[in-house]
Amino acid sequence: MRLLLLIIFSINAYLSFTQNDSIQIKSFYNAALTNGKAYEDLRSLCKDIGPRLTGSAEAEMAIEWGKNKMEEYEFDKIYLQEISVPHWERGTKESGWIRTSKGKIKKVNLLALGGSIGTNGLIEADVVMFNSLNDLKKANKKYIKNKIVFINQHMDEQQINTFKAYGGCFAIRGYGAVESSKLGAKAVIIRSLGLPLNKDPHTGSMYYLDSIKKIPAAAISTEDANELEKSINEGKTSFLLEMDCRDFPDVTSYNVIGEIIGNKNPNNIITFGGHLDSWDTGEGAHDDGAGIVHCLEAMRIIKNSKYKPNNTLRLVFFMNEENGNNGGKSYAIWAKKQKNENHIAAIESDRGGFAPRGFHCDGSEKHISLLKTFENKLKHYDLHIFEEGYGGVDIGPLKKEFEGIPLFGFVPDSQRYFDFHHAPSDIFENVNKRELELGCAAIASILYLLDQNL
Ligand SMILES: [Zn+2]
Repeated sequence: MRLLLLIIFSINAYLSFTQNDSIQIKSFYNAALTNGKAYEDLRSLCKDIGPRLTGSAEAEMAIEWGKNKMEEYEFDKIYLQEISVPHWERGTKESGWIRTSKGKIKKVNLLALGGSIGTNGLIEADVVMFNSLNDLKKANKKYIKNKIVFINQHMDEQQINTFKAYGGCFAIRGYGAVESSKLGAKAVIIRSLGLPLNKDPHTGSMYYLDSIKKIPAAAISTEDANELEKSINEGKTSFLLEMDCRDFPDVTSYNVIGEIIGNKNPNNIITFGGHLDSWDTGEGAHDDGAGIVHCLEAMRIIKNSKYKPNNTLRLVFFMNEENGNNGGKSYAIWAKKQKNENHIAAIESDRGGFAPRGFHCDGSEKHISLLKTFENKLKHYDLHIFEEGYGGVDIGPLKKEFEGIPLFGFVPDSQRYFDFHHAPSDIFENVNKRELELGCAAIASILYLLDQNL
């Protein structure tokens, strides 16, 4: 009899627990969809501040913007973490032209890659085309010396997950300059890392090695890449390039931090956030304004709900993800070495403001299994991806400092992300209000579930 009562009691407790979960999660969705602030907050970040490249005046204004928002929403504790960041500027001159095989001049849409040196005036050289970084590496020096290398690698349209297509050719942007310079090239031009065929060039980080001569690096739009390819196939083609981008000494900047203090275990910290900096083209709307307002709104919704978190929820707007990740790296070291904190999980949103699909977990079997148990509670909200995968760039360094910490990456639909990624088209108007709001509710929900179950 006693055993029977115990079983009935346990089943009841379990049912009321899961019922509470579903009531709680529903309330987060209702709040985001009927009374949400995320869309207007994103408009403000994109239009009042604009693009926010690390080290720029706008990046500093974005820090103030973030702190003011957290104050407006009355989080328990709000502060800045000082960090040192690189400072690169695009400059004012940035132009490229093709001198075609028929002797015609054609202007192209071009963006210097982040970190590139300038050209020191107009340069012109014959172009040598490669279809991949591997083909370039195998090339003979005598065909490359004093030429401009053009890497025309396409993102693989056959990949359903577009991040896989991006991962497959990301190296041409990162390492194209080093590999071209090793063979004596004057400059390197890459086909933009974007899926659509259009006139938008896509920028992004590139790297130099101290031991290899620095050469200028730029991306041209996919349509211009096709033009250049056509001309090269028809005969001798040259490229003209002028850029005055340059590096400046490192500057001081900040991560912006807000907390709701845990009710039961205030010393246990769940970090979540996105990156406040963006490239200097477009408005950094999907990358990563969406991630910023997803997390800001998730925190606001939890704060305004009846739910009192067990653990401390710490929202971080990371600085400098795009060209250095000094925000993410400094945060992890500061939390461990300076503050000796206890971090139990981290969540990141940096894949755009598109319709949510689920979450990835970079963690142990135990944590991946825990994530899978959330599917039942969230599948009614169109979320179905609950599997092992990547957490995010900003939260990545926590793994090194906090052994065994699970990292969770928010996964929205990926089909349109590389239409806008690092391109002038990454503007507020290209973010859908409802899709953005669903992302906020999904993040509030996983925060709640992790807080309950870790
Ligand atoms: Zn990003």
